[in-house]
Amino acid sequence: MVTAQLGNSGPAADVLIGGRWRQGGAGEFPVHNPADRSVITTVSNGDVADANSAVDAAADALPGWAATPPRERSEILRRAFELMTQDREELAALIAAENGKSLSDARGEVGYAAEFFRWFAEECVRSGGGFGSSPAGGTRTIVTHKPVGIAALVTPWNFPAAMATRKLAPALAAGCTTLLKPASETPLTALAIARLLTRAGVPDGVVNIVPTRTSGAVVGTWLADQRVRKISFTGSTEVGRVLLHQAADRVVNASMELGGNAPFIVTQDADLDAAVAGAMIAKFRGGGQACTAANRFYVHADVIDDFARRFGDAVEKLTVGPAAAGADIGPLISAKAVEEVTALVDGAVAKGARIARQATVADGVTGFFFPPTVLVDVPADADVVLQEIFGPVAPLVAWTDEAAVIREANRTEMGLAAYVYAGELQRAVRIAEALDSGMIGINRGLVSDPSAPFGGMKQSGLGREGARAGLEEFLETQYFSVDWS
Ligand code: NAP
Ligand code: MG
Repeated sequence: MVTAQLGNSGPAADVLIGGRWRQGGAGEFPVHNPADRSVITTVSNGDVADANSAVDAAADALPGWAATPPRERSEILRRAFELMTQDREELAALIAAENGKSLSDARGEVGYAAEFFRWFAEECVRSGGGFGSSPAGGTRTIVTHKPVGIAALVTPWNFPAAMATRKLAPALAAGCTTLLKPASETPLTALAIARLLTRAGVPDGVVNIVPTRTSGAVVGTWLADQRVRKISFTGSTEVGRVLLHQAADRVVNASMELGGNAPFIVTQDADLDAAVAGAMIAKFRGGGQACTAANRFYVHADVIDDFARRFGDAVEKLTVGPAAAGADIGPLISAKAVEEVTALVDGAVAKGARIARQATVADGVTGFFFPPTVLVDVPADADVVLQEIFGPVAPLVAWTDEAAVIREANRTEMGLAAYVYAGELQRAVRIAEALDSGMIGINRGLVSDPSAPFGGMKQSGLGREGARAGLEEFLETQYFSVDWS
């Protein structure tokens, strides 16, 4: 089971290649619990030789997997959904341990992650395609699809389960074989998912996983290998840009889910209780370490004091401490993250912002905690507004003119998520349509949904995950021009 790998006595053997678990070529690296800085366990450190062997295994497995009937692939994915649902508590504990998020957030993530297996088990058997006749007559056109080929999947630490399944499930549904490199902060959940996929019946070599501390070398090796036809990356815009440059050299098909800077707009006629409830989810899920996290709150001047009071009341009630102690909000991922969030808050305060309300961090904790914070009187050009915070800080900015707040909301190179709370639905939709964001919560604080196309505009990314679109990212279109005469 999931925990069997923890506290392993022998050398770590966490590189999965061709169905065999083995030691990585570069020793081991520790995985920490950010709530107390303890070492949870050590994990095998994959190197370039492992990266090459993983491609060999994925290449060997590709013809067989691509030719496996969709119904069989679908049933393996369905079993993965069921196993993940069964293992929910254990996986949640693992996520909470290596990522730090609260147990309730971790459980929510496992449920969300499992849903990608179910959704793509269902999409897997719905083969799309087309048939037409050419305008000149005679010729018929048959449009079909084939798997894009070997897919390299690179995932971040903030959703260790869901970011892996959101890529693995459509890749497997499409008939691709895969190379997975999880974030080095949180490899344990991905390793548990790989074990679960083996139990579900995924054949050897279809899912290969290389945890590593040298991600540039491992992923670079994959992108340089002419057998690898796809890169699907979730992470920072900076790293995404590097991978896009590398992908350009061999014209590799690239899907990118990158950073965000979501505006959260509240109009004067919005239901403020609903807006506060939505703000708590949009801001504090995962301690604010979500690419879809509300980053800046634009609240109409007529209601901003009322909103700030009610929101502040809710924020002060949050308990902050280790997930294992049942806290609402866990630590940030690292000491560096605490430094960065602190600098953003200090910078805003230096520009005239005020810390209006703050939650209290539990006494005696040693992890990377930062208290949930509400900032008011924030100048629109403070870095805390312009940059992705990735922490539990909510800057509030007042507005009066609708056109001006839309301009402010769009004044960023990011365009992932946005949130609009308005009393009148027509007004909410009018504002939403004017926003350059890929996903907009209208009177809702959560946009993630396996059946909906997840992704961003501008520098927030390329392509979509989930929905039918998520499957298409792993398919090539092919057409046959047929002489019908
Ligand atoms: P990151 O530093 O970009 O890391 C993401 C992944 O890329 C990790 O597996 C990392 O491995 C790997 N990586 C780092 N440098 C690399 C390189 N030179 N070549 C190949 N791989 C490399 O991002 P993060 O700090 O983990 O995550 C936070 C960011 O992800 C935020 O900006 C957030 O908005 C974004 N994010 C976006 C989405 C979305 O769907 N749009 C979802 C979640 C997060 P190591 O762990 O070994 O560094
Ligand atoms: Mg990183």
